[in-house]
Parts: sequence; C-alpha cells; structure tokens
Amino acid sequence: MHIVIVDSSRVVLKVVAGLLEPHGHTVTVFTNSGEALDYVTQTGSVRVLITSLEVRPISGLELCWSARLLAESNRPLYVITMSSARNARNLAEALDSGADDFIEKPPGAEELHARLRAAERLTTMQSELIRLADTDPLTGLLNRRAFIKRVNEAAERVGTHGRMAAVLVDIDHFKRINDEHGHDVGDTAIQSVARELAADGIVGRLGGEEFAIVLPHRTMTEAEAVANRLRLVMEALRLRGARTPIRLTCSFGVSEWSEGDTVEGMIKRADIALYEAKTAGRNRVVSATTDLVLDRAG
Ligand code: GH3
Ligand code: MG
Ligand code: MG
Repeated sequence: MHIVIVDSSRVVLKVVAGLLEPHGHTVTVFTNSGEALDYVTQTGSVRVLITSLEVRPISGLELCWSARLLAESNRPLYVITMSSARNARNLAEALDSGADDFIEKPPGAEELHARLRAAERLTTMQSELIRLADTDPLTGLLNRRAFIKRVNEAAERVGTHGRMAAVLVDIDHFKRINDEHGHDVGDTAIQSVARELAADGIVGRLGGEEFAIVLPHRTMTEAEAVANRLRLVMEALRLRGARTPIRLTCSFGVSEWSEGDTVEGMIKRADIALYEAKTAGRNRVVSATTDLVLDRAG
C-alpha cells in the first residue's frame, strides 16, 4: 500500500518507514503537515495516512479532519494517529476528528502490521463500493451520475476556451428487439453496443438504450468522425438470434463545448441533435447547429 507518515522527528519517520518498507509498502514521509496534506490530496494512490498528533503547521487533529473530508469525497483513505501519550482523551479526540485508528509512538512492529492489515481490508472494500456505485451493472460502463461527475471534472481541466465534444447514442427501434426476441436478447444488444463504444473518451450509459461519449480536447469534426465510424460498426453488428442473426442500428447526436458552456448544455444540445436524427429517419449522425448554441446563449 502507499502510506504517508507525518511526524516532526526525522528519527521517528525513519523508524516507522523502516518497519513498513521491508513489507513491500511504498512510504512517503513528511515533517511538515501542510505539505503532507497537499501531497495526500493530489496523490490518489495514498491509502493510509499515519500522523502524529504533535505536528505543524496543521495540528494532527486538523490533518485528520481534512483527510476525513477527502475520504468522504469518494476516496479510500485510512487515517491512523500516533502519539506517545496514549490516554483516553487523546484517543477520543483523534477518533472524533476523523481518525480510523490510534497507535502508540513509536509503534511496535506486530501491532503496526496488524493495524495495516485492517486498513487494507477496509480500503479495499471502500474502493470496491466506490467502483460499484459508479458502474452500470449490465454494461460495466459509467452510470449516469458517475459519467456526469467525470465529464464535469474533464470540463474543469479543459477550461472555458478549451475543446471538448459530446456524442449521444441511442439504439433505433429497440422496443422491437425486446418485443420480437425477448428481454434477454435486448440486454445482449445493449451489452454489444456498449462494448463497441468503450474506446477512448468518457463513456456512460445514460439510461435504457442510450449512451454518451465525451471526448476531451476533440473538435466537433473529430467527434462527427467518431460517430460516423460507430454508426457503421453498429450497422455491421450481428447478435445471435433464435433463427437468424439480429441486426440493429443507432442514431447519433453530436455537440461541442463552447465558450461559457456547461456540461448540461453541451449534453442537451447533443440530445436535441439526436432527436433530429430520429425524426429524420434514424441510423444517422446529426450535429447540433450553431443556432442551438445561440439559442442557449440567448
Ligand atoms: P427509438 O428508435 O425512437 O429510439 O425507439 P426505441 O424503441 O428504441 O425507444 P424507446 O425509448 O421508446 O424504447 C426503449 C425501450 O428500452 C423501452 C424499455 O422497455 C427498453 N429498455 C430500457 N432498459 C432496458 C434494459 O436494461 N434491458 C432491456 N432489454 N430493455 C430495456
Ligand atoms: Mg431507442
Ligand atoms: Mg431511448
């Protein structure tokens, strides 16, 4: 596991790191609690934070609290406080400040490893829960909530003036597939389409037989090329049917990120374009027009 240790004494850091490294843990040490917090915030691989209560400039309890907030924003992180004075007040304060556990300083090897095994069990379970909460069980793609969250994060990185494009995908006359071949074949169709979509970009299942792809740093023209290629791929799909192979097609709506845009706005414009693709006869790609951008702005 990746473990961060914070203590004002280099000697203590060396002793604790010396107990952990031979067991295959990756250890990063800090004497400055502020730098430690920045590092833990930016480094997603950190699973355990071990901090003394007596650290500066942020106190050990405050560090626990900040780490707890990180853990609550869907991040597996186990916090252990360390103090030479193991009294009931320290223990209670640490746990109330968001620590998961408390060890004496310097910790005994056996106790430390046992506590880290507990940390590993808990953070592994946490990551699995986070993964399950973000995943659509039928396709393994991101579910709507996780998709929107990822796209918002991407939009922040792309910035107001950056490029980004969205493609919405909806299976044509999907109800017929369900009605004619049964719900199980319908599920297989959804899975097959999902598999073809899972290339680059952020891909999510927005609902029943509707999917979305967001391509950070790509233009509308590039997204149209992606949609056109996918349209042909879907047309060429053959699903196993009772007698003959089942074919399907999809309709596509494309939009791009524009200055002052919101993720909801960009997706909405792709959705309107998708609706146009449906009314124009399906199995086609329609791009959101500039008018739609202007409409939104005005
Ligand atoms: P259009 O070409 O206009 O998109 O028509 P459509 O029949 O594909 O669209 P509509 O939205 O009317 O129907 C979608 C159907 O998808 C309705 C619902 O019963 C079915 N559906 C939704 N989720 C699932 C699922 O997880 N599995 C299966 N088998 N069917 C689903
Ligand atoms: Mg449909
Ligand atoms: Mg639909």
